[in-house]
Amino acid sequence: MPTATYQTPTSLNAGLRCRCPRCGEGKLYRSFLKIADRCDNCGLDYSFADPADGPAFFVMSGVGIIVMALWAWAAVVFQPPIWLQFATVFPAMIGGCLACLPPMKAWLVAEQYQHRAEEARWESVGGHGEGGFTYDRRGVSNRRAAL
Ligand SMILES: [Zn+2]
Repeated sequence: MPTATYQTPTSLNAGLRCRCPRCGEGKLYRSFLKIADRCDNCGLDYSFADPADGPAFFVMSGVGIIVMALWAWAAVVFQPPIWLQFATVFPAMIGGCLACLPPMKAWLVAEQYQHRAEEARWESVGGHGEGGFTYDRRGVSNRRAAL
């Protein structure tokens, strides 16, 4: 059975273009920030994609720092009236965040895909007092057998 090969883009490339992290061609979103069920080009199932609130945090922090730095500089140098400060800073904050959210979320989804990041799965390795690590238990049992 032939398997398809894809020219996988870098995570930054796929993120900035909001494209599929595997083929780099299919759309990642079906609406503004709503991730599609699967890639319309290669069929990659996007159910693994869950960047949670990471994109919002990074965008809010980055845009906030840049806009506040520019606002502070302009307020000192030009001393504009307060209405002008409100009329420019709030739209810059809101517009900057809305513009940066889709590519940031797509970038984090591409990073999840390329690094196979997923939620941790726990496995029981025994009861209390047995060490808790599978490699420790195997090493202990091997040492006991040798004694
Ligand atoms: Zn794809």
